[in-house]
Amino acid sequence: MRLVLLGPPGVGKGTQGRRLAAACGWALISTGEILREAVARHSQLGLEAQRQMEAGLLVSDDVMIGLVRDRTAQEDAGEGFVLDGFPRTVPQADALDRMLAERSLKLDAVLSLTAPEEELVRRLTGRLECPVCKRTYNVEGVPPRDGRHCNDHPEVMLRQRADDTAETVRRRLEVYRQQTAPLVDYYAAGGRLREVPGTGAMDEVFGALRQAVGCVGPARAGG
Ligand code: AMP
Repeated sequence: MRLVLLGPPGVGKGTQGRRLAAACGWALISTGEILREAVARHSQLGLEAQRQMEAGLLVSDDVMIGLVRDRTAQEDAGEGFVLDGFPRTVPQADALDRMLAERSLKLDAVLSLTAPEEELVRRLTGRLECPVCKRTYNVEGVPPRDGRHCNDHPEVMLRQRADDTAETVRRRLEVYRQQTAPLVDYYAAGGRLREVPGTGAMDEVFGALRQAVGCVGPARAGG
């Protein structure tokens, strides 16, 4: 199954996408994660993307479309994939449909996660991430056991993402409203959108996502 997880920053796309992909045997493709790794490696892609990311702005459609074209063609995505963070603009959504059609494939569903804006700001500004396994915590909602280190990597200090500062979070939400929110109507018009509230307990949201895509059997691996 080929899925898009759509929704504003902080709604839980990363956390839920990771679990969904693991439970259902699909590849997780997080464009933000790919870019952050490229920035850490100082690769050409990282150098191109870093400034926009730190300012809370979008990286160009051409760069993102090329990246997703290559990544979705890799072997582990053959059984299906969950896209987290792509598409973020209408041209990206059009390009996704085209690249899948060229391979005689299609997008099966778009899961739209929703939450009120105050909740998103609270989650993002309190978010801490493990640099090793990318598991996220929240200083208020889901704190790590000892307050500072990853539960699964007790020697690793959690860190705040460079773009989770209050000012950049505001900019990212604005960019979402202007450039990404139109995709809700775009996919609804094509009959592919399934809305799932992102505000309940983490397991509840996960259950609703699994129901929405019909992946309700026992977890396959790590889910
Ligand atoms: P995320 O981890 O999804 O919040 O993405 C972090 C940042 O990476 C975004 O604020 C953008 O700067 C960049 N980014 C990720 N995915 C895309 C995309 N599909 N189009 C443009 N920029 C993106």
